[in-house]
Amino acid sequence: MSHGDDPRTHDVIDPSTEQVVDTVELADVEQTDRAIERAAAAQRQWARLAPADRGRLLRRFADVVDSHIEDLARLEVRGAGHTIGNARWEAGNVRDVLAYYSAAPERLFGRQIPVADGIDVTFKEPLGVVGVIVPWNFPMPIAGWGFAPALAAGNAVVLKPAELTPLTAMMLGRLAVEAGLPEHLLSVVPGRGSVVGERFVTHPLVRKICFTGSTAVGQRIMRGAADQVKRVTLELGGKSANIVFADSDLERAAATAPYAVFDNAGQDCCARSRILVQRSVHDRFLELLESAVQKVRVGDPGADDAEMGPLISDGQRRTVRSFVEDAEQPVDVLFRGSAPEGAGFWYPPTVVRPRSVADPVWREEVFGPVVAVLPFDDEAEAIAMANDTAYGLSGSIWTRDVGRALRVSRGVEAGNLSVNSHSSVRYSTPFGGFKQSGLGRELGPDALDSFTEVKNVYIATGD
Ligand code: NAP
Ligand code: MG
Repeated sequence: MSHGDDPRTHDVIDPSTEQVVDTVELADVEQTDRAIERAAAAQRQWARLAPADRGRLLRRFADVVDSHIEDLARLEVRGAGHTIGNARWEAGNVRDVLAYYSAAPERLFGRQIPVADGIDVTFKEPLGVVGVIVPWNFPMPIAGWGFAPALAAGNAVVLKPAELTPLTAMMLGRLAVEAGLPEHLLSVVPGRGSVVGERFVTHPLVRKICFTGSTAVGQRIMRGAADQVKRVTLELGGKSANIVFADSDLERAAATAPYAVFDNAGQDCCARSRILVQRSVHDRFLELLESAVQKVRVGDPGADDAEMGPLISDGQRRTVRSFVEDAEQPVDVLFRGSAPEGAGFWYPPTVVRPRSVADPVWREEVFGPVVAVLPFDDEAEAIAMANDTAYGLSGSIWTRDVGRALRVSRGVEAGNLSVNSHSSVRYSTPFGGFKQSGLGRELGPDALDSFTEVKNVYIATGD
């Protein structure tokens, strides 16, 4: 049964079949306020627990997630169109991030600082209630990167999933209670960004917003947060460069390049959506890239061998088309992979040649399986082209020259670079953007600092 025109509900659509998977009730402002107030009460209870008990409960939460990996993954395949292989990794990532931060409650060390006539100690105090706002592209990992360190640092969390993809977050919320976390400590509040998300920003009990999504909404949240000097962490867009030098292992660079941009159908803020190839190997690289792109298996995301599924929505597909065939001046498509016909929001892996560096397909985040390729002449030009963007999230550098690898890594203005690989995210290392790609760092040892305030206490010893 469809409730498609009821503003209080949202039909979750399977992007590979266009069938309704489930209908979710959307919270209004009063329900959001209640969730925030209950979270604030749960936080006081959580902070009173012994650190070892908080750690134990987070490990139990990780174990409960582990025993539901397949259920969570299957739900993500249906509700978000992720390939089953990716979805299993994503659910496993939530478990791993919880396990990693479960060590934190017993290790939130302060300092003892030498002072005259007394002692001075610092404490890392929780903020209170943290609002986590999640986009639709990675519903599970991005939720976990917010709630795991926030809870480990002693906070409560209210979490708004994207309207399009609420199901796995709602399941994670139930699993938290099943694991024994205090009720309402992690409260998943499905609803619209303009209602629930905005209320997180304006409600005084929410002390921090951890947001991932578009740069435009991130800017709006940052402006709104100024009213209460509310803390923000922002993970925004990207237009990352994959820089291929002539001295690289060209076969590997070409074989891996499609997965660096077409994974999750290109709906990835770290997508290497600009390939910069040194001119002397440019033609050879494109030959190799063409056969690699044609090998990408696009189809039923529930099949074990699927490498790319559909886009999230018809609207997203229209956006992608607006950069390629429906652009004011259609861009030159060099070659394409395949995609199924019929129902589903399919779009084939597509490699284009921009007319110039001013072309929107070269400058703007497409958030779809489209990659643009341009040549460069030398190292200095490669760095200049890579940095000629408002974004600075990730990027890759392919070279066998270790000095060049380091020089270019230091030269590219981006938060997460990989040399001779395309990895951006490891839960034990910091992740975040330069320039308009964001503010603050998630994951790794750094994230805990953004979910705590440092308190300094001086104790006179009466000397
Ligand atoms: P978005 O509008 O920024 O949505 C991200 C999250 O923010 C969603 O949960 C959204 O809720 C919520 N939101 C929207 N308006 C809000 C407001 N005024 N106050 C508080 N929260 C608000 O992103 P989108 O529309 O889904 O995607 C648009 C483009 O953003 C994409 O094409 C892509 O270029 C970029 N994007 C980047 C990332 C990333 O990982 N950096 C992720 C997603 C999108 P609703 O779902 O209810 O709108
Ligand atoms: Mg939006």
